[in-house]
Amino acid sequence: MTVYGKLGVKTLINAKGTATRLSGGIMRPEVAAAMVEASQACVDIAELQAAASRVIAEATGAEAGYVASGASACLMIGAAACITGLDPGKMARLPDTTGLKNECVMVRSQRNFYDHAIRAAGLKIVEVGLPDRYAGAGVRDAEAWEIDDAITDNTACIFYVADPQSRPALAEVTAVAHARGIPVLVDAAAQLPPQDNLRRFISEGADLVAFSGGKALGGPQASGMLAGRRDLVMAAALQHLDLDIFWDMWSPPPTLIDKYRLKGAPQHGIGRSCKAGKEEIVGLLTALRLFIAEGDAARHARWLKDCETVAAALDGFLVTITGSNDIGAVPTVDITLDPDRMSATELCLRLQNGEPAVALDPAQRDRGIVTVNPMCLKPGEAQVTAEQIARVLREL
Ligand SMILES: *Cc1c(COP(=O)(O)O)cnc(C)c1O
Repeated sequence: MTVYGKLGVKTLINAKGTATRLSGGIMRPEVAAAMVEASQACVDIAELQAAASRVIAEATGAEAGYVASGASACLMIGAAACITGLDPGKMARLPDTTGLKNECVMVRSQRNFYDHAIRAAGLKIVEVGLPDRYAGAGVRDAEAWEIDDAITDNTACIFYVADPQSRPALAEVTAVAHARGIPVLVDAAAQLPPQDNLRRFISEGADLVAFSGGKALGGPQASGMLAGRRDLVMAAALQHLDLDIFWDMWSPPPTLIDKYRLKGAPQHGIGRSCKAGKEEIVGLLTALRLFIAEGDAARHARWLKDCETVAAALDGFLVTITGSNDIGAVPTVDITLDPDRMSATELCLRLQNGEPAVALDPAQRDRGIVTVNPMCLKPGEAQVTAEQIARVLREL
């Protein structure tokens, strides 16, 4: 019996994409094997994080890197690093930021549910810009000068959510921020592929960038990586690692933590609640290596093949594959339903309650569209997904 069977938990085919609610994706067998192997020996966790830092630095072009329990966790410890710098007294006070630099400037249209992570560290969000998309008259979003205007003596960082639609361009934001001596923290959790994005935000001047390990990278679901400036990664590490140690017995790897820059050893910090184990760290690094080795073209071809399998089985229905010409995109299959016959919601519910259960993406349901995303499908599951959809649609 499977582990899930023993617990009485039903498995599902995830044709929705890397949603945490659906437990993310499927790790490659090499990643799972690396995690099992990592679980069979103990190591000094700071030394392992220093090795992770080297690997992440090489992959991203940043000075340093770090692994925590998700991109969200990385954003929290990154925000904490921007507030405290290398001051252990300030680290001990978080999330109470009374008297500390505690403002974070953020473009209003980039506000999202994940910004809980930076607020959890104690940052107050100062919103700028009014995208004005509803009145119909607005053509612009926030501009770099508005960010510049919002910077005060209390500004700890600029928070930027990377997306192809994000405005102003990151390079403009880092230019105004750096002119005022303020770091820029970037949420790039779901910005892979394209693979270039591993290096892009750092090369555009970001001081810290967070990526999810459990999305396209194909790492453990509870992992994420932070890449960026060495001093900020050090500050993040100091607020995440277990520091129950005597100063004179503490010799952290100097590439990650230069202890002689500190007036004393911090105690457990705010990041202690989002630890990553040796298994997650090794799993994420293994997945990162495989992600880079596969490359955008092969990955896109693998996903596209699954999309074509689904489209072929739905011959006769209105089906379009999006992203088929862009190797940096995730191709998906949009199924447009005849609203007089079945709503998008009904199709999703029937599939989700089917045997096997299949989760589809209902994000475009108001337009009568159901989407199949191939990112989390195992070999063979595209065919099963297509058959399940075709069965329901042909029953009509
Ligand atoms: C998924 C996501 C996150 C969270 O990533 P985790 O690795 O699940 O913590 C944060 N921000 C954005 C924009 C995301 O899409």
